Amino acid sequence: MAPAMHVAMTRAWLIGAGPGDVELMTLKATRALAQADVVLVDDLVNPDVLQFARADARIVHVGKRGGHPSTPQEGIVAQLLEHVRAGRSVARLKGGDPFVFGRGGEEQQALHAAGIEVEVINGITAGIAAPAAIGIPVTHRDHAQGVVFVTGHGAGSAEPAWAALVATRMTLVIYMGMRRLGDIVDALLAAGMSAETPCAAIESATRPGQRHVLARLGEFAGSVSRAGLGSPAIVVIGGVASLALARDAAYADAATLPANGDVA
Ligand code: SAH
Repeated sequence: MAPAMHVAMTRAWLIGAGPGDVELMTLKATRALAQADVVLVDDLVNPDVLQFARADARIVHVGKRGGHPSTPQEGIVAQLLEHVRAGRSVARLKGGDPFVFGRGGEEQQALHAAGIEVEVINGITAGIAAPAAIGIPVTHRDHAQGVVFVTGHGAGSAEPAWAALVATRMTLVIYMGMRRLGDIVDALLAAGMSAETPCAAIESATRPGQRHVLARLGEFAGSVSRAGLGSPAIVVIGGVASLALARDAAYADAATLPANGDVA
């Protein structure tokens, strides 16, 4: 083992803030956040979670959205290193889980390369929370024996092997898939996935502005575009999405019940 190069008493955390709802953050995450001198916050993090940070903590927004200029990934890593080397504890706060499409792995590598330990604190990933928010379990014995988390962002050589994924017959949970949704649907249909496959898109899950669209694969891209659904959204494709259809139908029926729900 190499001799200890760690900066004494200084800590770095990679923290998952969960999908949005503050109550979906872990106790461990809130406790770490309460100790940090500096908090580097990603754009998808609900600002409400900063209530757990110290009143005197330095809060730095490093995200792309919300009018903030994008901070290149190297710049974020440089800031992380700078603060830790200056003896400050740093919480790197990311939406969902830090190790699911969050570049947390890259940041951990950079910290390790600099001889700095980092503690990873999981968060509830949007790919599970968003479907759950509308009653979709990502696995279900009757529908899917597994689930694939995949990015829809890639194009060209970074394009996921859609045909291979269709062959798995597993639930597909697509992150960052909205911009290329039409292409993704076309690729799935071309790979032989049934046009009747239930699909869901959930925007801003677990936040006040949460919205969703349910449709069959054949009409899915059109329905999403007509509804004007945009990022951030999770797309779910597979039989499990039918559970949300059933739920919406039940809610529609419930709306016709007496207001007090007092059914004889
Ligand atoms: N680390 C995050 C994912 C970051 S990638 C996690 O584990 O959840 C960013 C993508 O996550 C978005 O494009 C969107 O697909 C998804 N996402 C994050 N928060 C979301 C939310 N509240 N509702 C719907 N999708 C969300």
